[in-house]
Amino acid sequence: MSQWELIPQARQSLLDFARALIRTPSLPGEEGAVAHLIMEEMRRLDFDDVWMDEAGNVVGRVGPPDGPGLMFNSHMDTVDVAEPEAWQIPPFGAEMRDGLLYGLGACDMKGGLAATVYGVATLARQRVALKGPIWVACVGLEEPSEGTCTRVLFEKDGLNPTWVVVTEPSNLQVVRAQRGHVEMTLSVRGHSAHSSVPDLGQNAIYDAARVIFGLEILAEQLLEDPFLGPGVLAVTDIRSHAVSRNAVPDRCDMIIDRRLTVGETESMALLEVQRVIAREGVEAKVRVIEEEVTTHTGQVYKVRRASMPWAMEERHPLVRAMCDAARDVGVRPQLTRWHFATEGAYTAGVARVPTVGFGPGDPAIPHTCNEYVVIDQLYTAAQAYSALALRLLA
Ligand SMILES: [Zn+2]
Repeated sequence: MSQWELIPQARQSLLDFARALIRTPSLPGEEGAVAHLIMEEMRRLDFDDVWMDEAGNVVGRVGPPDGPGLMFNSHMDTVDVAEPEAWQIPPFGAEMRDGLLYGLGACDMKGGLAATVYGVATLARQRVALKGPIWVACVGLEEPSEGTCTRVLFEKDGLNPTWVVVTEPSNLQVVRAQRGHVEMTLSVRGHSAHSSVPDLGQNAIYDAARVIFGLEILAEQLLEDPFLGPGVLAVTDIRSHAVSRNAVPDRCDMIIDRRLTVGETESMALLEVQRVIAREGVEAKVRVIEEEVTTHTGQVYKVRRASMPWAMEERHPLVRAMCDAARDVGVRPQLTRWHFATEGAYTAGVARVPTVGFGPGDPAIPHTCNEYVVIDQLYTAAQAYSALALRLLA
């Protein structure tokens, strides 16, 4: 029997734990109950240290505190139940049917979180001698503000992993790249006048329409990376203001969702939009959205809605080790990329720590109704996490 193998008892406990997590709602900023559940489970499983930090992140360590460190990074929060009437299976029921586990967060990503806890517990149970720490990090606020709570792990708690595995759903494929993103507001200024004499004013809606047309053309011309694909630009919201129904609008604001591919930066993305504004000769300002988020422990963080794209070389030792670990447990891994944002935006994009993604669940499923994860993938993922830790640290 290999050291990474989950004993039957552990399989049952892993499944029970994943179901308990699904039954416990954890909207962003309300992850407290789930956080305590995770801490209890880690303590019961003999982790060497378990704590909660100021942001309400839960971290469990197995292995010595010093030496090269491996972090498994999961998020505890889920989105809200979209279209409750479209769920045929109760979102908090954790029901099992035909080898699938259903519920809000089953795939994104309480399944992956439970698998990391049990994958690492397998090594704790056997008292495997490790060269450095394995941290199972469970963060909050990923859905509204990816990277914010992981930043706390690195910059306040002082964790300094050598490698990071983000355990968002990848269908047990190895993710080596992810798009960055920038959320911008673009505000067009006009001049009000009575709409019976529109020539006396400057219609902000008409000016905005010209900018939008320019953005539509810009969106066709963005940089393309051979692995990650092209950058993306979409206008996702628009609203205008006029003093009355009979007035020329003096203002029109829009939201731009910009996804960055490798080679693109936040400042490039802003500059491109500024060029469109200048070319159209309209009075407008564009800026990156900044907002405040509050953790379940009451901490308030100011965040900029921007993150960098990242990509790991195909030959990077961590990419290869993750592929080898997947093969150890019977998976034939392909290299792939994520189109959605994850905590990798911070670990790879900002902290520049080698990062890969690997998790149970279909990446097309998050944020849809009747969310599920294949139960067998939970066991395979847990074993792959053990196998990776053994390859890197045993
Ligand atoms: Zn997620």
